Amino acid sequence: MNCQTRVGTRWIACPAAILTFLTVLAPFVGAQSKSPAAKPPKMPPRPKLVVLLVVDQMRADYVEKFRGQWTGGLKRLVDEGAWFRDAAYPYADTETCVGHATISTGALPATHGMVSNEWFDRELQKTVTCTDDSKVKNLGYAGASVKGGDSASNMLIPAFADELKFQTGGGTRVVTFSLKARAAITMGGRLGDAVTWFDADVGAWTTSSAYPVAPFVEEYAKAHPAAGDYGKTWAPVLPASAYLYDATARGAVPPAGLGAAFPHPLRGKSDSTGPDLVFYDQWHTSPFSDTYLTRIAETAVDKLGLGARAGTDFLGVSYSSVDYVGHAFGPRSWEIQDVLVRLDQDLAELFAHLDKKVGRANYVVALSADHGVAPIPEDMQKSGMDAGWLNVESVKERIEKGLEPFNYAKPAVAKVGARAVYFTPGTYDKLTNDPAALRGVLEAIQSVPGVAHVYRAEELEDRPSTQSPMLKAEAAGFFKSRSGDLLIVPKPYWPWDSSTPTSPRQYGATHGTPHHYDQRVPVLFMGYGIQSGEYFQPITPADIAPTLAALCGITLASRDGSVLAEALKNSSARPVASRPAPASPPKQP
Ligand SMILES: [Zn+2]
Ligand SMILES: [Zn+2]
Repeated sequence: MNCQTRVGTRWIACPAAILTFLTVLAPFVGAQSKSPAAKPPKMPPRPKLVVLLVVDQMRADYVEKFRGQWTGGLKRLVDEGAWFRDAAYPYADTETCVGHATISTGALPATHGMVSNEWFDRELQKTVTCTDDSKVKNLGYAGASVKGGDSASNMLIPAFADELKFQTGGGTRVVTFSLKARAAITMGGRLGDAVTWFDADVGAWTTSSAYPVAPFVEEYAKAHPAAGDYGKTWAPVLPASAYLYDATARGAVPPAGLGAAFPHPLRGKSDSTGPDLVFYDQWHTSPFSDTYLTRIAETAVDKLGLGARAGTDFLGVSYSSVDYVGHAFGPRSWEIQDVLVRLDQDLAELFAHLDKKVGRANYVVALSADHGVAPIPEDMQKSGMDAGWLNVESVKERIEKGLEPFNYAKPAVAKVGARAVYFTPGTYDKLTNDPAALRGVLEAIQSVPGVAHVYRAEELEDRPSTQSPMLKAEAAGFFKSRSGDLLIVPKPYWPWDSSTPTSPRQYGATHGTPHHYDQRVPVLFMGYGIQSGEYFQPITPADIAPTLAALCGITLASRDGSVLAEALKNSSARPVASRPAPASPPKQP
């Protein structure tokens, strides 16, 4: 029978094979079951499948603004689910790796250690990404040759998925997908069975030697190359009158060849005749890549029979394209509105698939985002607000200049990035014993347009008790060996500009600050054990994993979040009753 799927070193039989196997065994099982001691223990009810969905860069207000235009999966989450309307990250570095690790572990970066997408490794004296691991090797599917090595080894506590698998006796399969390694890996943890991301440098689905190679991904990647979307055009799905804002977003920085306004052709470089690297950049910045993630997730459900066995399985999907679209066109764009309408349709398809294959009452969904985003400063300036770009090169230059009177070796700065300043070895120790020079550095940074505060590492250690929300947010994300010597907080609407005189800025909008537009995200639960309703008490996305853990009856090692008990039904196995539908769809503001 050719009906087995190999997951790493294990072979998993398809449902038909299991059925045949059980039929053959039935007489023996029956004979054994005469002894009461041989009966399997009756397990308390649990969801058959936990589905964690992260929409990369989804602002909470997108739900409030656009839900009237949704008819699919996002609408179903809002209508049937538990909707937490005042959820925000309590830390400062609102970036992808940090948000996903927080959702995945139920802890804050001061605990899980994923303080940023990348940091300056003081031992190696170089910048490393949050998933860099020199002990593993990345493996491309469908014969692709990929570089680097990525794993969850830098995440210092287990993911919820790790604990689920470890504590339920191995019956759990963990499968995650994203365009980004830092999203798929932080959700899949160390024990993931299939952890898959897209390497845009070669245009290939990828995993690493930290995880089993999944034959169903190999088959799918060969049969459905991402290059199959080459030549498509992203056109608006709604009538023009349905879009808020201007058709061309002010200050947009779209990928090459995509164009500043609809329609957006996905044809790579202008002279290209087939999929090239520019095409993959365009594909990321389009709804087609989210649809691809949906289809491959459905394939995982089918091929592995997720949610169809005795244990509780885990499926994590991080939808990346909202982030790429947001960076390119900003939150006030037709493109953001459109990509969400299409994600709503993708999620309708995913939930319909799960209803059929797993059963509506048998799975629980949690949806959130890893961070929000700031408006494009040029767009904000139009309204007369104080807005601009805080330039990283200016910070570096002014620190070096500020130190000139104090006789420090140049360069004193090893790296400035993600709001963090790292000094060359020995320099910061010297500065902490040299108040005049340190004051010179702090004043130099304060003189850069857009800087609001500068914190020193020693102010942030051990989560100090403080009345200052900004200091508290910085401390919640501080991990001494990885965080900077100094941390810069920009003014509101002054995002970080990483351009240099030789390389222009690659994005129109960005995130990564302790301001509320970056911190505030949606949190929605739906399905097994969930009490539908709208909840307004302040929560954080670190509460998601503890809540899922409570539903699954497991314990997390170190959590900073809490169980959202108000969203849980007392009795765990009932299907969710829909709230009555509104008479007419809510009007757009
Ligand atoms: Zn992100
Ligand atoms: Zn981003």
